[in-house]
Amino acid sequence: MKPYDLIIRGGTVATASQTFKADVAIRGEAIAAVGRGLGPARREIDATGRVVVPGGVDSHTHIEQLTAAGIMNADSFETATRAAVQGGTTSVISFAAQHVGMSLAKVVDDYAALAGRGAVIDHAFHLLLADPTPDVLAREVPQLVRAGHTSLKVFMTYDRLRLDDEKLLDVLQAAKDNGALVMAHCENHGMIRWMADRLVAQGQTAPKFHAAAHMRASEPEAINRFITLARHVGQKVMIFHVSTAEGAAIVRQARGEGADVEAETCPQYLFLTGKDLDRPGNEGARYVFSPPPRERSDQEALWRALALGDLQTVSSDHAPFAFDQTGKLRNSLNPTFKQIPSGLPGLATRLPLLFDAVVSKKRFGLPEFVRWSASEPARIYGLTTKGVIAPGYDADIAIWDPKRRVTLADGPIHGLAGYTPFAGRTVTGWPETVLSRGRVILEGGEVTAQAGSGQMLLRKAG
Ligand code: MN
Ligand code: MN
Repeated sequence: MKPYDLIIRGGTVATASQTFKADVAIRGEAIAAVGRGLGPARREIDATGRVVVPGGVDSHTHIEQLTAAGIMNADSFETATRAAVQGGTTSVISFAAQHVGMSLAKVVDDYAALAGRGAVIDHAFHLLLADPTPDVLAREVPQLVRAGHTSLKVFMTYDRLRLDDEKLLDVLQAAKDNGALVMAHCENHGMIRWMADRLVAQGQTAPKFHAAAHMRASEPEAINRFITLARHVGQKVMIFHVSTAEGAAIVRQARGEGADVEAETCPQYLFLTGKDLDRPGNEGARYVFSPPPRERSDQEALWRALALGDLQTVSSDHAPFAFDQTGKLRNSLNPTFKQIPSGLPGLATRLPLLFDAVVSKKRFGLPEFVRWSASEPARIYGLTTKGVIAPGYDADIAIWDPKRRVTLADGPIHGLAGYTPFAGRTVTGWPETVLSRGRVILEGGEVTAQAGSGQMLLRKAG
């Protein structure tokens, strides 16, 4: 038999349901065989004592994206995807972000061109609808969904992005008509604006008041309303970045009633709390993201919701701003919570944090790690060749050293933001070799893939 191109030999292979000792053989860009004693191959990687998992799929990232306030986030497609690879991720979905008045098709072309030049791994786009005009919904959305961009993102808060209930129903109906998924940022805009205005009027403007402004009740209210609208239309939805126990409970109840709802959380809600916003000086600005970090009891509720299957994925919501005058401190060296761009870098740390908690600290096991980091996001978003180690799937594979201890620190592996809100934490388990479509793209801590070598992933509606 013709030799394989590559064999990853002797590792512990994990899928979403089991772990077993096996070799993984690759031919071209795809996995050709999984089993014992495979061979021969032109190249072998010794994976003895290593864990072999599907490369991560990070299904919620903001890359090279202009905010509605006109601020560009810190990363390019090249720097963001290099950070992803450092953390064991091999596919990202970011946003083609429409702003008011823009053609959605033009927006997709522009982001696709940027990603085509820069991305070192495979990537797909969610269509972010800030201005779902009749023309956008009747003409552009059907064309773009047919072309393979099958997920639509809506906001219930933020000036210039948020949609009212009528517009949300319009988008949900258009998604239903075209076989797309709708994801939502669920927070009650009026509650947040009212509270923020009061806090500012009272001079309570330190970063920690970001959490008070985004009061926790704003989340379950908006999740419940969005699910109610979706059920009225009969449309499948995904709730982004659930942060509270009450939000997870709404999702659980709706799923229990048979609603077609899925949901995610993010490492920042599993590992940070509102106390991080209250760090000395302006340090709290590093932790300003929305929804804000909550309480320890919420962390436990979110882990339970993952275990119960109410939440299916853990994404990064990577939205980086450097901790300097180009980013977090652009308006002031001692900014009020209203002046701080919202978001954090997370592409490089998502999987090491998750591996440490889920696998090394034995909260769950390798199948759960694979499920939440790769196979479920691939399934939910229609990335049919990703997230699974089995013959025929793309050879997107991360080989982890499960014993390696790393203390997270600021630095370039996080992308151009250059810092991590998880600095100082020591994790056990680190990705040492990463493959994308059979190419080794991370070796010895170095990302070897060329800018633009990733491919755009198109998906099937339905
Ligand atoms: Mn959001
Ligand atoms: Mn986001």
